[in-house]
Amino acid sequence: MRPEMLHKAPLNNHCPECYSKEGLELIFTQETISQNWLSKRYGPVAATLYCHTCNNEIYPVSWDDAIERAYEYQQKRVHPQKEGLQFTAWAYLLVLFGIAAIGVVVYVLLPL
Ligand SMILES: [Zn+2]
Repeated sequence: MRPEMLHKAPLNNHCPECYSKEGLELIFTQETISQNWLSKRYGPVAATLYCHTCNNEIYPVSWDDAIERAYEYQQKRVHPQKEGLQFTAWAYLLVLFGIAAIGVVVYVLLPL
């Protein structure tokens, strides 16, 4: 499993831990459950709130209403990959190469 970053946004909210107004950052990630040259599987989106001032991860239990609102706003700007199997760029390249190879074979075999 490897989380992929989807969206990152600094928040102008007070940190519930150190009360600093600078340093909060909301990070949206999406789990990549398996990845090889052929396929990629995406899981659900997760959000992490991190404070760079006190170097703490702020868990949703300590979020206040303002952070909650900022989270909802930012969440709308996240465009997750569809859950499920996706082909990677390598797979597309392989398909293109296959089509090109068929084209060459057809060209060679065509009676001139
Ligand atoms: Zn803090």
